[in-house]
Amino acid sequence: MKHSDLLKIAHNYGAPVYVYDSEKIISQFNRLTKAFGSVPKLKLNYAAKALSNISILRLMNSLGSGLDTVSIQEVRLGLMAGFQPQDIIYTPNGVSLEEIEEASKLGVQINIDNLSILEQFGTKHPQVPVCIRINPHVMAGGNSNISVGHIDSKFGISIHQIPHLLRIVELTKMNINGIHMHTGSDILDIDVFLYASEILFDTAKHFKELDFIDFGSGFKVPYKEGDIQTNVEELGQKLTGRFNEFCQEYGKDLTLAFEPGKFLVSEAGSFLAKVNVVKQTTSTVFASVDSGFNHLIRPMLYGSSHEIINISKPDGRERYYSVVGYICETDTFGNNRRISEISEGDILCFHNAGAYCFTMASNYNSRYRPAEVLWHEGKAYLIRERETFDDIIRNQVDLTYLFDPVIEKAVAK
Ligand SMILES: *Cc1c(COP(=O)(O)O)cnc(C)c1O
Repeated sequence: MKHSDLLKIAHNYGAPVYVYDSEKIISQFNRLTKAFGSVPKLKLNYAAKALSNISILRLMNSLGSGLDTVSIQEVRLGLMAGFQPQDIIYTPNGVSLEEIEEASKLGVQINIDNLSILEQFGTKHPQVPVCIRINPHVMAGGNSNISVGHIDSKFGISIHQIPHLLRIVELTKMNINGIHMHTGSDILDIDVFLYASEILFDTAKHFKELDFIDFGSGFKVPYKEGDIQTNVEELGQKLTGRFNEFCQEYGKDLTLAFEPGKFLVSEAGSFLAKVNVVKQTTSTVFASVDSGFNHLIRPMLYGSSHEIINISKPDGRERYYSVVGYICETDTFGNNRRISEISEGDILCFHNAGAYCFTMASNYNSRYRPAEVLWHEGKAYLIRERETFDDIIRNQVDLTYLFDPVIEKAVAK
């Protein structure tokens, strides 16, 4: 997308606003599909939690994607967006048996990640095919907040518990139709990923009625210049060979599934915010925007580095800025960034704002969550209206009759 298109959107829909470029989403989807082009049966299940706007889900559905969901609400959103139940996989963590049963009734693929629920679900519903989430205890990436395969992770059934797992399956006579892992949000090293895949293959051998093996996600995309990104072509080549070999041993063409979230939508997103104040202090220059971690929490939560461009004057002289928000707490988007000289009223554009940005937004400080716009074939479409004061007050119960002194006296009389 051109800067002028983004500026027009900020002008027409106001700031702050999220903008998603469908062309980038489509090209990422096609890139991944192509990288695994030699797999007879490939299924990409878009991880809805990255960006769950219903129009984005419809776009994914139109591309032939399936859907990976982590809550019953995401399942319902997916169905509403036109996905067939069999194209939805439900991969929750730590949810109740009741919620899993509810999802199962809707006809979606159930994925269970602990032995307690597996035993309960299998005992009550042995006829329902279930996928199991394995924890291969492989550390992908260095940040323990985003690596979910290691030994202390709360995700998945440990490979050391396979004997117990097999016993539950045998006793309940349940049907395991899929094996799944999701090692975390960073596949930095393809060899580490392939190593984890071997563990998955070893586990798969224990189950005779599999339809698919799901390798989760963890595709890394660049956030700033020089960042490492997952070489999906290399991964595709290496994993495909090994997967097809495994299918031969297994005696059946299984479906190879992935659940990319960030890979499909991160780079497609731009977040636009207006500069309210440029403030010089003794040590730095702050640019304060009309937003904060209520809209984009990743820098504060994960230390993520989102590139920031002044699209109002992209070719100005560059200076150092600390870009901060308006929340009454420290909410820094970026420190010591070289950005083209900023004036009050300029529009700053935050890159990689497609994944885990809007979906993590809140009303903290009683602010409105921003609008969302889809840019599709050269046109802008509003896909979520900016909130209003009604949204802030909705569901609040105002105890006037308890605390209003005038009414209190009237009631007393
Ligand atoms: C979040 C999640 C994903 C998507 O991860 P990305 O890093 O965004 O690709 C996939 N599978 C499961 C089970 C998840 O929880």
